Amino acid sequence: MKAVRTIQELRHELAERRTRRSENGLAGVGFVPTMGYLHAGHASLLKKAREECGTVVLSIFVNPLQFGPNEDFDRYPRDEEKDLRLAEECGVDFVFLPSAQEMYPRPIRTTVAVSGLTERLCGASRPGHFDGVATVVSKLLNVVQPDRAYFGMKDAQQVAVVQQMTSDLNMPTEIVPCPTLRDADGLALSSRNVYLSDEERRQALSLPGTLRQAETWLAENADPSALRDRIMEGIQRSPLADIDYVEVLTYPSLLTPEEAMRQELPGDDRLLVACAVRYGKTRLIDNVLLPWNNEKKGAEVHA
Ligand code: AMP
Repeated sequence: MKAVRTIQELRHELAERRTRRSENGLAGVGFVPTMGYLHAGHASLLKKAREECGTVVLSIFVNPLQFGPNEDFDRYPRDEEKDLRLAEECGVDFVFLPSAQEMYPRPIRTTVAVSGLTERLCGASRPGHFDGVATVVSKLLNVVQPDRAYFGMKDAQQVAVVQQMTSDLNMPTEIVPCPTLRDADGLALSSRNVYLSDEERRQALSLPGTLRQAETWLAENADPSALRDRIMEGIQRSPLADIDYVEVLTYPSLLTPEEAMRQELPGDDRLLVACAVRYGKTRLIDNVLLPWNNEKKGAEVHA
């Protein structure tokens, strides 16, 4: 494994590897972009990339562009040594660790903005966040030029945004969504979990605990707004829970079921139940995707 800090060096290294097959006959470059402070969730993406690609590139970059002025950019957890050890264990070939100066040598005047998918959920709570994400992901995809890039469904809206962007702009990278990895108690793994006190962490289990019941509740009553109410109630059983949003939207278009019915979007066969909740100062996100039969549920929505 090699740690690389400049775009020039990474491009040089990858130029040689692109056409080569690995010992087990795999070809292609697989890419996992992260902000570091790696955990088993990141490792699951890296392992999938390792299984499918001849060369695996991991990037670690805490992107200032996607943090709001009052967010946690300065205190975002960082541990390069530990990250490099985990990357090595996952069989990564190249770790790209650019500085902010390397990524943004002068004030950036080009923004990639994906409309339609970024106004709701985290886009509403974090203005400008997805412009920062789409812009840095575009830059990283241009630098690495991977055949496949792996993203976690824990950030389901991010996956929808990145897939829309690569499709709209004819970027040749295939986006591979990967399932959310959870701790044994159900909490979705996140670099931000280290901010939680023991009590906050205990109470934060109301989030995955409630989401686990969403499918049963939807089967009992197909009305998405009733489902939303029940989810809010469930989460609020923990007194520390301060809900930012709970939304039930079709996936991947992120429309309300009523809007989706009107637009008859053939690709939207799932409902995303997505939540952002603060426990103390820590904002956690989590979601579950449920099957949604557009025609059948449409009748029920309008009943
Ligand atoms: P981050 O470092 O938080 O920006 O995450 C980098 C990538 O890892 C993103 O594609 C995330 O969706 C993904 N990821 C983060 N947490 C998890 C998790 N618990 N399970 C699976 N993927 C995750």
